[in-house]
Amino acid sequence: MEKIIANLNEIESNIKDLCAKKNIDYKSIELLGASKFRSLETLKFLRDEGRVVTFGENKVQEFNGKYDSTLTWDIIGQLQTNKVKYVVGKVRYISSLDRLSLAEEINRIAEKRGVVQRCLVEVNSGDEECKGGLSVDDVENFLKELAQFSSIKVCGLMAVAPQGIGEDELKKCFSKVNDLFLKLKAQNPEIQVLSMGMSEDYLTAIECGSNQVRLGRILFGDRPQVL
Ligand SMILES: *Cc1c(COP(=O)(O)O)cnc(C)c1O
Repeated sequence: MEKIIANLNEIESNIKDLCAKKNIDYKSIELLGASKFRSLETLKFLRDEGRVVTFGENKVQEFNGKYDSTLTWDIIGQLQTNKVKYVVGKVRYISSLDRLSLAEEINRIAEKRGVVQRCLVEVNSGDEECKGGLSVDDVENFLKELAQFSSIKVCGLMAVAPQGIGEDELKKCFSKVNDLFLKLKAQNPEIQVLSMGMSEDYLTAIECGSNQVRLGRILFGDRPQVL
């Protein structure tokens, strides 16, 4: 745990330095713990310290096993339609909303449970190679289609940058998503969250407008090989 606190101190100080340099409000940046493969005990420790208070899980099965209603959770990994029932109403955001069929199911379950499920739309910041997400050009139309779902509220965008690209290319990817975010936000004040940046690229992401970074290895240490 000491190691995690030391990591956290360093991350926070890096973010503070960057914010000071670039005139960004440090308090506007949310540090989300990307908590796959990490024990509930570790997460509770961080929450109790008041340092990291929200955690993003990738897999519904792992989330189910770990779920504790006193913590705040997001789902940040690809979500299968048949798993929606396990997360609606239990997570703050479903951050990987990337298709209409998924939205339909989220809305159906949320309506049945009498809740409004907040979501982020996943955007593919790079090109086709990237795993999930809509291309930047398709997001506005997708949002129009989502307007029919009264039990879904879209609060922002999430993007994963392509791996192994240079710094200039990375900035281009993040900036493209940020431009879209700012445009949508100007039209709709409910759009507030721009989730971009992981261990390798969180500082670049913040520089390009991200206000939520999802940190795994740099915070918790290298991933254990076996759960
Ligand atoms: C695992 C994961 C992260 C964190 O990755 P690190 O490189 O370990 O920081 C962030 N976002 C998503 C969607 C992830 O699956």
